[in-house]
Amino acid sequence: MRKRGREEDKDNDEEENRRVVYKTQSLKEKCLYCGLEFGTYLHCESHIIMAHQNSCTACDKVFPSEHILYLHIDEVHNPILELKRKSRGVKTFRCFVETCDAQFHNHYERRLHLIQKHKYPHDYPFVQITTTGI
Ligand SMILES: [Zn+2]
Ligand SMILES: [Zn+2]
Ligand SMILES: [Zn+2]
Repeated sequence: MRKRGREEDKDNDEEENRRVVYKTQSLKEKCLYCGLEFGTYLHCESHIIMAHQNSCTACDKVFPSEHILYLHIDEVHNPILELKRKSRGVKTFRCFVETCDAQFHNHYERRLHLIQKHKYPHDYPFVQITTTGI
């Protein structure tokens, strides 16, 4: 007998599971990129790394989306942007939201924008996500 650790839908699930080995509706962690669902966060995370691997060719770090990977490359591995940022104060930090055109001078400005405009949680790993990835 499978132990699911869930109370709701229990009776229905057990009936179904005899025929359907992998019943996606009863799982709870959802991949943000393709909508697939997983029983645990760890499964979901390893799926994201495997299926949506956006890894940096320069440092092998893995990022949650292609857009974030591009931001990482610009912010960490682009010496021209780095120079522009330092010498001319150019806004080289882009918003995490792909459809948003906002640009910023630094992590701090971007963090404020993401919290205020896009309702990101305060404890989101704002700096980590584009520097060390997931
Ligand atoms: Zn996925
Ligand atoms: Zn890198
Ligand atoms: Zn934005």
